[in-house]
Amino acid sequence: MSTSSSSSSITIQASNEQRRRLHHEADVVIVGAGVFGCAAAFALAKQGRSVILLERSLKEPDRIVGELLQPGGVSALEKLGLSDCLQGIDSVKVVGYEVIYYGNPVSIPYPANAGAAAKGGFKNSMNEKSTRPEGRSFHHGRFISQLRKACASQPNITVIETEATDTITSQHSAQVLGVETKTLNPATGEKENDYYFGHLTLIADGYASKFRKQYIGKSPIVKSKFYALELIDCPMPAPNHGIVILGDGSPVLLYQIGTHETRALIDIPENTPTAAAAWEAFALISEMLYSLHYPSKCSLASKPHSRTGKSHEVCQTAGCRPVRK
Ligand SMILES: Cc1cc2nc3c(=O)[nH]c(=O)nc-3n(C[C@H](O)[C@H](O)[C@H](O)COP(=O)(O)OP(=O)(O)OC[C@H]3O[C@@H](n4cnc5c(N)ncnc54)[C@H](O)[C@@H]3O)c2cc1C
Repeated sequence: MSTSSSSSSITIQASNEQRRRLHHEADVVIVGAGVFGCAAAFALAKQGRSVILLERSLKEPDRIVGELLQPGGVSALEKLGLSDCLQGIDSVKVVGYEVIYYGNPVSIPYPANAGAAAKGGFKNSMNEKSTRPEGRSFHHGRFISQLRKACASQPNITVIETEATDTITSQHSAQVLGVETKTLNPATGEKENDYYFGHLTLIADGYASKFRKQYIGKSPIVKSKFYALELIDCPMPAPNHGIVILGDGSPVLLYQIGTHETRALIDIPENTPTAAAAWEAFALISEMLYSLHYPSKCSLASKPHSRTGKSHEVCQTAGCRPVRK
């Protein structure tokens, strides 16, 4: 790029930044700086588009979602130029799954093409070329904070902390022109109305979207809920794997989210009373951990399952599973 063209592109960037900050106007307005909103903002900004990214809270999220990025996601991140977001967050390499079915482990490594791009993608990321593609697991909040930081340092993106409350539509057509938001005024402590306009408005506000029902009549049917634990220095039957434990009880998924932290997710059917579900989750995990620590001490006996009534194997060794009072 010549000196004059690079200085003119810097001038355009500066004037776009001013249009975003002062006039709240951009090529694209994105609501929600989660994984989708950040990735979309970064990709569009790299194409040279001016982007406003609106997020209701820029604090590090504390949520138990999106903690294991599969190899295809790692490749996509690399292609977007965002793979640095996996650095410095104590993320853990994942090379496949270990399914433990009634105590019998079966190792399922990611297949060689697991890192391949979606149809039509470019075959140029390291993870795609590798014969051992890798996924990554991490604390969701740390990863999202890295994505937001990357967006904030992209000259074509302005990140603003504000909550979208409504869409603004044209009076003449159904076209969405932008969004109305509420922004906290730190001086008064009051939330004030703001308006943001884009040629395109992308709503990326997640599974609990307040906007989706304006366009999609159907509500999702909830069949089960995850109960989650964070285990510290948990011995893993197969390090660097997602561990799926299947038996008569609820399915359990384990994966490391840091060097010392392991996430346990227990899939409990909807309508199970909370206390019973929590008990089952706790009992399943403690049973499994005990048998990992002291496999020789486990003495299994067949018992009816507390919820399903079906017969299942339970360790009888004292301390192996909590005694139900
Ligand atoms: C229990 C569980 C486990 C999961 N595990 C995995 C996994 O291991 N791997 C995986 O790939 N996926 C996993 N998922 C799915 C993954 O979490 C979602 O696909 C992903 O989070 C969706 O990203 P998103 O950006 O669309 O939405 P979100 O991550 O929900 O982000 C939405 C963002 O929008 C913001 N927002 C919402 N409303 C507004 C508003 N009105 N104004 C401004 N901002 C707003 C929110 O604060 C948030 O930052 C899991 C999901 C669940 C529920």
